[in-house]
Amino acid sequence: MRWSQLTLVENDPGQFDPAFWLDYFRRTHSDAACLSAGGCVAYYPTKVPLHHRSAWIKDGMDPFGDLVAGCRKLNMVVIARVDPHAAHRDVFDAHPDWIAVEAGGQKRKHWATPGLWVTCALGPYNFEFMTGVIREIVTLYRVDGIFANRWAGSGMCYCEHCRSIFRAASGMDLPRTNNPQDPSRRAYILWREQRLFELWRLWDAEIRKINPNARYIANAGGGALSNLDMKTIGELAPTLFADRQARRGVMTPWANGKNGKEYRATLGRKAIVGIFSVGVEEAYRWKDSVQSEAEIRIWVADGVANGLRPWYTKFCGTLHDQRWLKPVEEFYNWHYRHELYLRNEEPLARVALVYSQQTATYYGGDRAGPRVEDHTLGFYHALVEARLPVEMVHDRLPAPDPLDRFKVLVLPNIAALSSAQCDQLRAYVRRGGSLVATYETSLYDEWGVQRPNFGLGDLFGAKYNGRREGPMQNSYLALESRHPILKGLEDAPRIVNGAWRLDVSAAGKFPNPPLTLIPSYPDLPMEEVYPRVPKTDIPEVFIREIGAGRVVYFPWDIDRTFWEVMSVDHGKLLRNAVEWAANEPPPVEVQGPGVLDVTVWRQKDSMTVHLVNLTNPMMMKGPFRELIPVGEQRVRVRLPEGKQPKKVQLLVRGATPAAQPAGGRLSVTVPSILAHEVVAIDL
Ligand SMILES: [Zn+2]
Repeated sequence: MRWSQLTLVENDPGQFDPAFWLDYFRRTHSDAACLSAGGCVAYYPTKVPLHHRSAWIKDGMDPFGDLVAGCRKLNMVVIARVDPHAAHRDVFDAHPDWIAVEAGGQKRKHWATPGLWVTCALGPYNFEFMTGVIREIVTLYRVDGIFANRWAGSGMCYCEHCRSIFRAASGMDLPRTNNPQDPSRRAYILWREQRLFELWRLWDAEIRKINPNARYIANAGGGALSNLDMKTIGELAPTLFADRQARRGVMTPWANGKNGKEYRATLGRKAIVGIFSVGVEEAYRWKDSVQSEAEIRIWVADGVANGLRPWYTKFCGTLHDQRWLKPVEEFYNWHYRHELYLRNEEPLARVALVYSQQTATYYGGDRAGPRVEDHTLGFYHALVEARLPVEMVHDRLPAPDPLDRFKVLVLPNIAALSSAQCDQLRAYVRRGGSLVATYETSLYDEWGVQRPNFGLGDLFGAKYNGRREGPMQNSYLALESRHPILKGLEDAPRIVNGAWRLDVSAAGKFPNPPLTLIPSYPDLPMEEVYPRVPKTDIPEVFIREIGAGRVVYFPWDIDRTFWEVMSVDHGKLLRNAVEWAANEPPPVEVQGPGVLDVTVWRQKDSMTVHLVNLTNPMMMKGPFRELIPVGEQRVRVRLPEGKQPKKVQLLVRGATPAAQPAGGRLSVTVPSILAHEVVAIDL
């Protein structure tokens, strides 16, 4: 339930204080630890040739073994961390073929530490040398698992092993382009993935030969932009750790929870854990830094609200800055006290956002961030603002279960879908499910090759006319009818358009479209700024009822533009589209001021509603300076069929709130929220 990670640095042995750390593990009620063991540096007296023992280890010392023994006394699970990505000069001298090679043929020097070399992940360094290291660690210490960091390579490698193994597998030379439509690049993407899963299975099998209860756990996984298939990872991994240590760039605190959802999408009910670093991240990698207490608390709270078990990671056994110790200890203690209510069995969200690694890889390519992920971020943010609990679903998990747990699937520019995937979505709608899709969804096959028309054109009721328009300057949408999708826009005759649109027309009759196009007109000089075509009948949203299912399709980049521009009108359209498609009351409604991330869960004998208070002037980048309380929130939650609440608590405030059951719902008043509140209902 609670993890501690201590990543040692080479000069820690003999200098850091293991007793301090073991005491901190105890005080935080950590029941599992991840400790540095080997790879780049060994922190135990290794006998594997070329396995570099820390130069600070003197004869008779075993810093890793001492920490393992201390953790076992605390009844903790222990996994050993290895990091194979870098090697010392003696490795280079003995096995130059183990070192990664640049496109120009040079051996790859480590980018951060002079004197170190970057290893090849796909050849004998990992498959033979590291397998020996892993065997030794599991044999000597009988750890519960091996966790490998940076095990999957550091970019493209042109070494002799990669060249020959790839040629044997594909008949081709290694690719020299990133274009996923290039045959050798496509073959390489598939080969690299297959090779890494082969390595995963090898290490897992070798570990289990020695300790049948131990497993290999890769540092791997993520959302659409991650490059190992999450469906396979979900099958292989017994548990998985989401390594999103802190914000970087523009990243709101809900990014931590979103990451949890991406892992849960394919791991299901296996435990998933959120690694947080307490430091300032970004490209400059201040690994010894400490964030503000408020930032740590909101980041971790959002992860826990979204089903992640907390894992702090600290680099260096000697602390350069202690300010994080107290907030983490306080949070872990709260987590420990309420553990029963945090052992989630099932999220009760009825809306799921689909994410698609194949869309990012084959359609997005080098530009997958703006072309793919920005659509998801925009839609996700709109649903957070709407306070609609949402899960995420992997596009390669099409079976009725888990899809049918959701009433609405959102397809935020899920451009690349196979015919079989389109059939599965059609079947989902026939069974009463609803879709909300945007922009180029289904216009490409699973390899990113464009189709003449949408794979889901029959559901959308729209036909592609072969033309994409954008970026559009000064274009608008006219609001034409009183459809519920325009709720909250009753007094708006027009709103801004997105930046990109597809030229589409209605496949059948589509009278009174709620949104129609007002084409771009000049935005300078000001004398020229008047609409040349004030009105068209070109629909910019398609809305259909198909049996009990509903389909909304926006042929423009509403979600991506929302992420870029944050127009409130687009936010309302996205919310309304999902609410109309759902055609049922949401599992929880929360009324009150501010921005909250709302999640709702079932446990064995209870249910919980998490409310994470994101209301903060720093929300869109995440560097919270202080926590700013929001006022009263009225929560109305649907109770499971036939269940009555036995007891209602607010787990952060530590109080019993005013609560009123009526008509299968429970109304609870939360007086205010600082960082996080959990309404816990015993059933
Ligand atoms: Zn290589």
